[in-house]
Amino acid sequence: MEIRTLPETNIYTYEASGAQNLKDVVIHNISIINNYDHPIELQSVKLESLSGETCVLTKILNSDELNGIAQYLYGAQQQGVINALDFVFRPDLLLGSAKTLSNSSKVEPGQALFLPNNPLLIPANCDKIRIRVNAAHDGHPIESQIMLAVSEYKQKNDYSFPLKGTCYVSSGADFYSEHRWVNLQEFGIDIVRLSGDGGMYSNAGLRVEDYYGYNSEIMASATGVVLKAVDELPDSVDRLPREGESNEEYFGRLLATSSGMLIGDPYRGVGNYVLIKHSGGEFSVYGHLKPGSVCVNEGDQVEQGAVIGHLGHSGNSPFPHLHFHVSNREDFIYARSLPVQFSNISIHARPSLTGYVHTGDLIKVKE
Ligand SMILES: [Zn+2]
Repeated sequence: MEIRTLPETNIYTYEASGAQNLKDVVIHNISIINNYDHPIELQSVKLESLSGETCVLTKILNSDELNGIAQYLYGAQQQGVINALDFVFRPDLLLGSAKTLSNSSKVEPGQALFLPNNPLLIPANCDKIRIRVNAAHDGHPIESQIMLAVSEYKQKNDYSFPLKGTCYVSSGADFYSEHRWVNLQEFGIDIVRLSGDGGMYSNAGLRVEDYYGYNSEIMASATGVVLKAVDELPDSVDRLPREGESNEEYFGRLLATSSGMLIGDPYRGVGNYVLIKHSGGEFSVYGHLKPGSVCVNEGDQVEQGAVIGHLGHSGNSPFPHLHFHVSNREDFIYARSLPVQFSNISIHARPSLTGYVHTGDLIKVKE
């Protein structure tokens, strides 16, 4: 019985509450592979948070829960979703010797069971997570375990905020955000700009030009070399609210088309984008840029704060905004995202000793 995980060997924390000394982590996928030649019956999966040798918190998935998850993932594989969204589920890393997913907690030889989306809130002194899997094999109890290191990522560059003025983080790197549940953009943030009265748009927000942030300058967050500069895609004007449409109808419409947009070409989701390589194996991604607005070329050296393009609404975008994240690989779709702090911001009405931002933060960018 083999256990594999995504991320593979170590997990980076994000600040959950500085005041309460809490951090959060997500194990994006756990794969339990039956490499015996007999079926195994999984009984429990324990996620143990450790400080040194002491286990301080345990989360247990029992066989009923494992059954439910297995059925759901088996259905997803049958419908081709696991392969179509392979950059999310990473079967290339997680299946090992297995070919298919099990549809219950009974895992046949050559099958694996996937457990996606495992969030944990942990005390800041936790430095490891142990995953223990208990099963029965031929009537005998068996156990496998692996240990994942847990640490705060030490960023290699100074990052400044990629927009000026007063900004709102509409989606951060926390459990409220869709970013956090996907390894490749786990620590991504979506940023909109606000007007003086705190609004996001004038009129009814039915046109891209209604949004105060539309066409704002986007700055390189750190010094580096431009690896990609894409700006031929149109703004996704069909992904704005429509006259007379309720919020529910609008978000329902977006949700219904989001996955389809990524299948076959996951890079399309980010729309027009710039990718910059920094020192220390860090790459910053700026997405959803305005068509024709990118003003750097591949190979250009850019300084921190240099204008690289303008805020737009291309790709999988619910409203004009900037998507920003730092990645560990040039191919940022098959990569992991890295948590970074910004050096030049103050966060309105939330005391913070760090430069980590959260969903709902109102940011003042220092000049
Ligand atoms: Zn985003």
